[in-house]
Amino acid sequence: MTDPAQTLPVPGAVGKLYDRLTLNAMNDGTFNTNVHIGYWDTPDSEASIEAAMDRLTDVFIERLKVDGSSHVLDLGCGVGGPGLRVVAHTGARVTGISISEEQIKAANRLAAEAGAADQAVFRHADAMKLDFPDGTFDAVMALESLCHMPDRQQVLTEVCRVLRPGGRLVLTDVFERFPRKEVRHPGIDKFCSGLMSTTADIDDYVALLHRSGLRLREILDVTEQTTLRLAEEIAKLSAVEDRPAALDESNFFTDDAFRPSDLAGVDDFGCLLATAERP
Ligand code: SAH
Repeated sequence: MTDPAQTLPVPGAVGKLYDRLTLNAMNDGTFNTNVHIGYWDTPDSEASIEAAMDRLTDVFIERLKVDGSSHVLDLGCGVGGPGLRVVAHTGARVTGISISEEQIKAANRLAAEAGAADQAVFRHADAMKLDFPDGTFDAVMALESLCHMPDRQQVLTEVCRVLRPGGRLVLTDVFERFPRKEVRHPGIDKFCSGLMSTTADIDDYVALLHRSGLRLREILDVTEQTTLRLAEEIAKLSAVEDRPAALDESNFFTDDAFRPSDLAGVDDFGCLLATAERP
């Protein structure tokens, strides 16, 4: 599933990385409630990065099929922006987990500020070992978190276990698009090492979901709508003198390991959107 040559992320270290990114963002005034790419529906969409980030969550909401009676697990919840949007737009109850303690503190603070603390609860936990009973959730969302987990098969098998029969999983993940180059673009290497990630193999994704006990509903290559467009938008912004601090990548990514603009024009760095359900 994951190319064995790739260095596997260590959850504790991923947690520390996100602690650092979260604290940096709070200190620099670049804090954003979404820690993910945007989704632009069409190439001529003029949506801002912020609007496109919210749109990505809405693309998930369209597929999760949840309502006020549902309980949703947000697997790798960041600082809670997507989970709180699910609460606000569907009335569902959300439990979010992140391996970063600083993110969890921020997420619970945001939930309280939004008056949603009874609907949205965020906990520090490792997705590699979920401690929820079987069938706890009506749906699971995983926005850009699987790439940081050392064993996708293990996580998805756990996701299947905690879903009720008929419950849905919606996820985004990164992969290398065909044709795969003999030498990976250095921007992809920087992404993987700087953000402690691995790329998935899209050819194996259907089998991966099936081996986890899940039934595939849809798998889409959304690279043009997401990663490729975001890198372009950020590269454009870098050229603007008075760009808003919150969108200045050098404020957020303070160590030189990786900048989203490293991936500008790199169309072999792909993003997939998959929906599956527990039969
Ligand atoms: N889904 C959020 C955050 C994406 S960033 C959003 O869209 O805004 C990746 C998230 O995955 C971070 O919150 C990180 O802590 C979480 N994560 C990575 N590995 C994890 C693990 N093993 N267990 C739990 N969370 C993990």
